[in-house]
Amino acid sequence: MSTEKTIERAENHLLHTYNRYPVVFDHGEGVRLYDDNKKEYLDFCAGIAVYALGYGNRRYEDALKKQIEKVMHISNYYYSEPLADAAEAITKASGMERVFFTNSGAEAVEGAIKAARKYAFLKDGKCDHEIIAMEHSFHGRTFGALSVTGNAHYREPFEPMIGNVKFAKFNDFESVEALVNDRTCAIIMETVQGEGGIYPADPDFVAKIRKLCDEKDILLILDEIQCGMGRSGSMFAFMQYGIEPDILTVAKAVGCGVPVGAFLMNGKVAKSSLVPGDHGTTYGGNPFACAAVAEVFKIFEEDKIIDNVNSVAPYLEKKLKEVVSSHDFLIGERGLGLMRGIVFDTSKKKPGDVVKAALSNGLVLITAGTDVVRFLPPLVITKADVDEMIEKLTMSLSE
Ligand SMILES: *Cc1c(COP(=O)(O)O)cnc(C)c1O
Repeated sequence: MSTEKTIERAENHLLHTYNRYPVVFDHGEGVRLYDDNKKEYLDFCAGIAVYALGYGNRRYEDALKKQIEKVMHISNYYYSEPLADAAEAITKASGMERVFFTNSGAEAVEGAIKAARKYAFLKDGKCDHEIIAMEHSFHGRTFGALSVTGNAHYREPFEPMIGNVKFAKFNDFESVEALVNDRTCAIIMETVQGEGGIYPADPDFVAKIRKLCDEKDILLILDEIQCGMGRSGSMFAFMQYGIEPDILTVAKAVGCGVPVGAFLMNGKVAKSSLVPGDHGTTYGGNPFACAAVAEVFKIFEEDKIIDNVNSVAPYLEKKLKEVVSSHDFLIGERGLGLMRGIVFDTSKKKPGDVVKAALSNGLVLITAGTDVVRFLPPLVITKADVDEMIEKLTMSLSE
């Protein structure tokens, strides 16, 4: 079938909520995607930080095939071995005590908010608790997650939100402190803001927030849906800050392609929050999704995925900084590990135009915020892949 025909059939029936690029992807291998005309693309998007292991990882695929042949879904009223494997692996890797598996990132954030409110409710029996979130944050599109997303444009048409949410300035501790009162039950933030424009949290900001939360028994919810799972250079980005969250949300790369997310909590929250009847899901944590999660953690360990991030990320950073310094319309570079962005002077050039040009040059990139092109490659890329990317990027920047 022709590319145009496929696009037309899709557009005839899909609800128009995305302006898709006119590409029909067919399959992937390694760090490359191939379209329906067999054109090759170097992928520095990885399905938005999902395909951490690259395409066609045989071990991962065999584990999924084996599970499909046994059973894909049972119900959360029963146990399965993959569920036990996945729960063990994700709590061990994060240092959190307990986990609840979801089907997406947004649902993980929903669960995190419910757990935080329940924790506060059990303390004082009141129903007026407040949450502090950050400007320019992104936590997902469902109502709870949207309510703590710091982008008024995403929220406005759907008001009213869940309520009692206040927004502080990311990396500005005084702005957070000014919003705290005795109703504050949680502070939610991304350790590295992703959609908002690739802003890593300042170590000093994180340390002060943790201290404030400890002093006032406010729960710190870290959303590592995008920056987690090795992308930052440690299994979770918070590990580089020498602190631990009370609640952690994970998704995207935790399933490496299978839709799965999770919220996790420490012992303090687990002991005094959600109980049977408070929360549930039909699909969440089913044997198929959990077989993926369990295998992903095994492969991360055996293939030393994080070591590769730490060997390639400084090279990517150096190369991107060189690109920035040789273009007058580029004004900065920032990120953590293999989550990076270059910042545009949008009066001179638009990030969206560069992403389009890159796609025609066989390079998959995406934007972030209003002025950033984002780099979220599979975590298995090599320095040679970086060189090839830089070549294609440079070409795309000059168009
Ligand atoms: C992608 C993302 C989400 C939402 O995840 P979905 O799976 O799309 O619901 C939430 N938080 C962060 C930080 C994200 O990057």
